[in-house]
Amino acid sequence: MADLNQEQRDDLVIRARQVLQDLDVLTAHVQQLTSVAIGMGGQGAIPQAYFDWPVGTPVERAQHDRLPGAWVDATGYAQAYKNNGRTEYHTGIDFNLNTPKFDSDAHAPVFAAADGVVVHSGALAVWGNVIVIMHDWHSPIIWTRYAHGESVKVKAGQSVKRGDQICNVGNAGGKMPYHVHYDVAIIDLGKRPGDWPGPNMQRVKDGYLNPVEFMRIQ
Ligand SMILES: [Zn+2]
Repeated sequence: MADLNQEQRDDLVIRARQVLQDLDVLTAHVQQLTSVAIGMGGQGAIPQAYFDWPVGTPVERAQHDRLPGAWVDATGYAQAYKNNGRTEYHTGIDFNLNTPKFDSDAHAPVFAAADGVVVHSGALAVWGNVIVIMHDWHSPIIWTRYAHGESVKVKAGQSVKRGDQICNVGNAGGKMPYHVHYDVAIIDLGKRPGDWPGPNMQRVKDGYLNPVEFMRIQ
């Protein structure tokens, strides 16, 4: 350290602070995931306490180690993409099924991922139909969001069971390719069903869990 000039020392201090801030963010995220895991563990003996994927056959939906069947994730959690020229970060999974043919997912059924209460069901600008289910039987509460669907079968206030069909895969009224946008959130999406942090990666990390990790820790 004795060989460093003032500018180099200042630079080291700034870099050390940045590392500490990054660590804080990581620690908070680990704590969230751990508390989810503990919450799940407390309910572990109850089969309906587990989450399934929202698409696929019953066997495919129950698998936690990978996406259901031939469904793919077209836009992953926290993945950067361009929205009208601006870099934004995706909050969840875009489920697509193009096997055995393109758009095999069109009109396929979409299911409640777990037992819960529908806290939003209705169309939003850009999104098309959005369904939000609150799963409040453990701590912290998890909200799941299913977007761009068609033939919506549930209303706000309605209780649903894991595997109940809630809508079909849609294309947001022709504005998007056929797919299901699916989120696992720890912020109240019932109050803000159209929540979209956009360019704010930190808000994505603070409010949304990676659905793939979330399934693996159950
Ligand atoms: Zn999406």
